[in-house]
Amino acid sequence: MSASAPRLSVVIPVYNEEAGLQPLFDRLYPALDALGTSYEAIFIDDGSRDRSAALLKDQYLKRTDVTRVIFFNANYGQHMAIVAGFEHCRGERVVTLDADLQNPPEEIGKLLAAMDAGHDYVGSVRRTREDAWWRHIASRAMNRVRERITRIKMTDQGCMLRAYSGDIVRAIAASREVSTYIPALAYTYSHNPTEVEVAHAERAAGESKYSLYKLVRLNFDLITGFSVVPLQLFSMFGMLVSVGAIATYFIVIVDRLVQTGWREGFATLWDRDILAFFLLGMVLFGLGLVGEYVGRIYQQVRERPRYTIQAVLETPAGERNEPPAH
Ligand code: UDP
Ligand code: MG
Repeated sequence: MSASAPRLSVVIPVYNEEAGLQPLFDRLYPALDALGTSYEAIFIDDGSRDRSAALLKDQYLKRTDVTRVIFFNANYGQHMAIVAGFEHCRGERVVTLDADLQNPPEEIGKLLAAMDAGHDYVGSVRRTREDAWWRHIASRAMNRVRERITRIKMTDQGCMLRAYSGDIVRAIAASREVSTYIPALAYTYSHNPTEVEVAHAERAAGESKYSLYKLVRLNFDLITGFSVVPLQLFSMFGMLVSVGAIATYFIVIVDRLVQTGWREGFATLWDRDILAFFLLGMVLFGLGLVGEYVGRIYQQVRERPRYTIQAVLETPAGERNEPPAH
């Protein structure tokens, strides 16, 4: 094994995690050392506005041999941070982990064992989930929607403690899409996926970086990124509405023929109003949905760099103090 290619890369996105980083370092490095394999820990500072960047730099200086840090110039989101980690990692296997210690680093061995068994993608299911109650409900609903309208099979789409083979990671790095959902994208590139059960803890420190708005955006990324069913649903619904409208007019015409008088004018007018409101609502809804896709096409065709890296902290392979091979 060459000195420049560790067997394992651990990719950790960090956004305003100053309170939780030290506890993370204190548990992550012993857990990785205990695996008895060569590794690198890659932290991506996703434009943190607190002391996270400074803490990461200190940690890099403490463990230059196995630590690499990438600093974004601004906040691009957890999934873009992971993509950057994927583009820069050198390991044959890559594990992603949250920085808030909700995913116990001690569970990494379990994922690697599943990879030893021949799987190229190891997802995870949280045994008990320690998040706000409304997130449990929302997740369950989104899981169900995703299960139906995409081909992606995941018991627990939210858990980021996952292991990917080098091939999957390279495929993701080569994907030029702007808005994405890493576990789902990885799943589409995998050929022998599996899931293992892992523990889940409450956030060690700080608060969730996902507001309701960001969660909704993330789920739009997941659904529109992997399915065109919402578009198809709309056209199906549109057709139903048109057929319904035509039927309604027939009924009104028949009604008019049978019962003439004041009732006729009144009923026709009233029905038309309801119909107009209904159709207007549908058109607006459809417009919004189409806009969702068009917006993505717009982002994609601009082909802007997906993020800009300010600096990369790493030691060139030749200058590193490698531990003796075992
Ligand atoms: N994160 C990030 N950029 C963001 C939001 C989150 O890099 O814009 C990181 C965050 O630091 C953490 C992980 O992504 O390591 C998961 O975030 P969080 O714990 O807030 O999400 P939750 O567990 O509430 O789903
Ligand atoms: Mg978390």
